[in-house]
Amino acid sequence: MELKTLNEIEIISAPHSKISEVDFENLTFGNVFTDHMLVCDYVDGAWQKPVIEPYAPFMIDPSAKVFHYGQAIFEGMKAYKDEQDDVWLFRPDENYHRFNKSATRMAMPEVPEDVFLGGLHRLLEIEKEWVKKGKGNTLYIRPFMIATGHGVIAAPSQEYRFMIILSPARAYYSGEVRVLIAEHFSRAANGGIGAAKAAGNYSAQFYPTKLANEQGFQQIIWTDDATHTKLEEAGTMNVFFRINDTIYTAPTSERILDGVTRKSVIELAQRENIKVEVRSVLVDELVAAAKDGSLKEIFGAGTAAVINPIVGFSYLGEYYELPKLENSVALEIKEKLTNIQYKLAEDTFGWTV
Ligand code: PMP
Repeated sequence: MELKTLNEIEIISAPHSKISEVDFENLTFGNVFTDHMLVCDYVDGAWQKPVIEPYAPFMIDPSAKVFHYGQAIFEGMKAYKDEQDDVWLFRPDENYHRFNKSATRMAMPEVPEDVFLGGLHRLLEIEKEWVKKGKGNTLYIRPFMIATGHGVIAAPSQEYRFMIILSPARAYYSGEVRVLIAEHFSRAANGGIGAAKAAGNYSAQFYPTKLANEQGFQQIIWTDDATHTKLEEAGTMNVFFRINDTIYTAPTSERILDGVTRKSVIELAQRENIKVEVRSVLVDELVAAAKDGSLKEIFGAGTAAVINPIVGFSYLGEYYELPKLENSVALEIKEKLTNIQYKLAEDTFGWTV
């Protein structure tokens, strides 16, 4: 599949490239950005002509609604380079549609497809040198939208800015992950914004996660807000549990982000004849499975890490470590998925663009 390029776009080239100053072998995730960014403003009820311009700070009114009421959403996706030097995206239409779902939930205007996907295509053409070959090298793509309208009245902004910035990244590995199961805090509630990639969902997680970090846990497994009995997400990833030979993950809902990696893992597992069940897993079930040895694996699934194995969890002050495995289903799925992303295996699903 080919992405449509946006012709109606102004391009202001950076006077010189920073690429030679970047140490691609030692990148900290999300720290270095490419030479250009895409900017598109929404004014007087209409999206203006997008501009690709040198990456730089910009001016914004201190009363802009993004600072006071948090009207801000984002997406996270990646570009990969194959052995023929072609650059590929993975299911970008999924991110595009999710972005506009987030926009609607936050009373923000939808971004047109030619600005989001067409603009991204054009930006990637300009920045293709920043996507390095070889498995594990990626260009992380961060589209986002903020409310730029001025005035501290608590009402939706009349003006917005949509932007795309790009950051070269190595495969994300966070070391051994041990998690705390949420007993009190929640990341989302019914009727809330958990299914949107709204900035506030992430800032609200920082404090409980900091407390978990202080106890030696890297992440929290979020439970449902009403009863704290159902397992929902792991940090900023969807979460899967393997009990005996079946992998389980919660159905998406108003409280759970509809992850692109999650749905790809489910489809891939089904193709590989790995048993998958989409249903809520109860905390009690997990504890019982950990005790009787039927709990084999827990893993997070998300764009940044693809698959992140979790080695143990804590609940009500009790810590449960998972057995060391010879054959990890999580890592088998990760291998198959990344082979598709890097065009090392045939993409029978038509996911790569
Ligand atoms: N849940 C949350 C809360 C997230 O922020 C993310 C990252 N976007 C995910 C799940 C995983 O989604 P995806 O696979 O689309 O990256």
